[in-house]
Amino acid sequence: MLSESDLRELLDFSAPDPVVSLYLSTDPTDGNTDVHRLRLRNMLKEVNLEQDQQAIERYFEHERDWYGRGVVIFSCAPQGFFRAFPLAVPVKDRVRIDIRPTVKPLVDLLDAYGGYGVALVDKQGARLFYIHMGELAEQEGVLGEVVKHTKRGGASAFPGRRGGIAGQTHYQDELVERNMRDVIEFATRFWEEKRVRRVLIGGTDDNVSLFRSLLPKAWQSLVVGVFPMSMTASTADVLEKATQVGLDAEQKREKRLIDALTTAAAKGNGGVMGLENTLKALHDGRIQTLLITEGFRASGYRCETCGYMVTEETEACPFCGGTFTKIVDAAEMAVREVLQEGGEVEIIHSTPGLEDSGKIGALLRY
Ligand SMILES: [Zn+2]
Repeated sequence: MLSESDLRELLDFSAPDPVVSLYLSTDPTDGNTDVHRLRLRNMLKEVNLEQDQQAIERYFEHERDWYGRGVVIFSCAPQGFFRAFPLAVPVKDRVRIDIRPTVKPLVDLLDAYGGYGVALVDKQGARLFYIHMGELAEQEGVLGEVVKHTKRGGASAFPGRRGGIAGQTHYQDELVERNMRDVIEFATRFWEEKRVRRVLIGGTDDNVSLFRSLLPKAWQSLVVGVFPMSMTASTADVLEKATQVGLDAEQKREKRLIDALTTAAAKGNGGVMGLENTLKALHDGRIQTLLITEGFRASGYRCETCGYMVTEETEACPFCGGTFTKIVDAAEMAVREVLQEGGEVEIIHSTPGLEDSGKIGALLRY
């Protein structure tokens, strides 16, 4: 399963030889295995690097079961570099040959489908999930031990409160709260370990809001959605619902970022739009979040010495006097540089606002 550290490796990969990046949809809705093979063959025709072509063909002949919904391959044969990632999420066909692995579509997938922690909660306990790249990676139930233990201790822990209905209700409330606190301790440890970046909570309204209110502040800020769901729901239902709620939240986030960027750029403070302005901000190390319309590519020129990128051919670098070389895709290069510097990248899908402004922009650190 594709992880953040795989992405890290791809970002760090550098070689004197070209790298082939191939994204192939194997989604049943895009046809059967024969159709996938045909599309693969057509894409490989664009790869005029024999060794890489063979390496990719070998992978599909010998190692690839045609399950899942897509596969991503990076090959740099002269360096013996070959990585393949079968995916349970949809990808669009594309093949790129560039001086580095093309990671932008992968970044987009990780952004949409990566690192979800899900809790299905009730008054007794919870079922916990980790959903990554469309797969239910792990699941731990906190029903049972924790709750039983709490219940056993309960009677003697509140000896004075056993009498009367009011006392009983109060006791029940405290028990529920205590159960939830135990669950939260367990859940946050589990999610921490999985490097969960966002949290979804399912259950009845009152259970969800109680759980949410008891979460530590840092975790509360990671809650991106809640949904009604029964504790006995199937894992398939949980996966489907959580994915849908997660994608909805992603879309809302896109809209918020576009709004923030539009406002900032209009004020001339905290945001820039258009490729040239964005590349300048990138060189100044000011980009907090890079926003790019899906599919946007732009050739450009990059300073061999300091990495400054421009859209028009330029004699000498205004920063260091270095010489520029042509690059296939300045947008892709911007993505990797922002990520390498610890910034964020958001690929914009359906939210309008960037199209007329050069299809790229950035929220700035200062
Ligand atoms: Zn330079």
